[in-house]
Amino acid sequence: MSKKITIDGRELVFDQDKTVLQVARENGIYIPSLCYHEKTGPASKCRVCVVEIDGMKGLQTACSVAAKEGMVVRTDTEMVREAQRMVVNLLLSNGNHNCLSCECNGRCELQDAAYFLGIERPPFIIEERQERDSSGAFILRDPEKCIECGRCIEGCNHLVVNEVLDFGYRGGHTKVICDEDAPMGESTCVQCGECVQMCPVGALIENKYIGAARAWETKTVRTTCPYCGVGCQLDLHVKGDQIVRVTGTEGAHPNQGHLCVKGRFGYDFIYSNERLTTPLIREGENFREATWDEALDLVAGKFKQIIKESGPDAIAGVSCARSINEDSYNMQKLFRAVIGTNNIDHCART
Ligand code: SF4
Ligand code: SF4
Repeated sequence: MSKKITIDGRELVFDQDKTVLQVARENGIYIPSLCYHEKTGPASKCRVCVVEIDGMKGLQTACSVAAKEGMVVRTDTEMVREAQRMVVNLLLSNGNHNCLSCECNGRCELQDAAYFLGIERPPFIIEERQERDSSGAFILRDPEKCIECGRCIEGCNHLVVNEVLDFGYRGGHTKVICDEDAPMGESTCVQCGECVQMCPVGALIENKYIGAARAWETKTVRTTCPYCGVGCQLDLHVKGDQIVRVTGTEGAHPNQGHLCVKGRFGYDFIYSNERLTTPLIREGENFREATWDEALDLVAGKFKQIIKESGPDAIAGVSCARSINEDSYNMQKLFRAVIGTNNIDHCART
């Protein structure tokens, strides 16, 4: 049943089981938030999404308070803004958030919050340098940009369930660690990149994206991953005619934004000079280029010879996981109906 809530003087209708933040977002009211993510839900860690709610003492985190019938919420009072500015100022001060050189510039949620709150430069200076971790094959970790929102940890442990990341140490020394504080490349991380996709700032970045493009230079092309039969949905971030980044399409079946290491990072082959563009026929130890007609005649001739000498069950076929469904269907038809054997399989069958 629909209910009504008032946010900043606007009477809004909502369905049950929504938080104040969700109702506000659905109605185009921006409440800065950093630790909240649709996929992992309320965390109430960063306290940037605070609001005033009539009848409730002090400030409330909009990501964790359930919207209720008749609730009156204010997102833009002086008390709210002061609290939000203080949190964002501290986050900006506690690290090295140099937007000019950050790969996340233009798609950073901390940058958005600072801009919205009119913060030009952080008023505090907290000098504590932290080394980047470049040991991961595909992911760069920059702790100086980390705001300790915990979204990467939630994603790693509860979405892809790889259980690599956690908060380590205490108090001011708290930081995100891999396993028992191992370099990412020496940890149990499988480089799936879910944490990168969850990170609201530039603390986790795809190595291949570094220096490749600014966010506003790319367009997004939705496609299906070419690697296996699961059919994960991808967003290709393309600059000119080059893919510079791949993310999982949020909210789309079957992967809901998650990807494996191949789908997210294994797109270099597209641009490889070593790709085969003509059939090759083996002659002794070497291969020579051939036409398609010549290659197909050779294969058909060998098949006929084997069938004649040993029967059709002497032949087996394995179709490629990258083939489209229609090609795999044709392959099994060829083997069953033309060659006459059931020796046909697919390398990514489940
Ligand atoms: S890449 Fe995947 S496994 Fe590795 S830390 Fe990130 S989410 Fe966990
Ligand atoms: S690395 Fe990113 S997602 Fe993880 S805690 Fe830091 S800011 Fe949040």
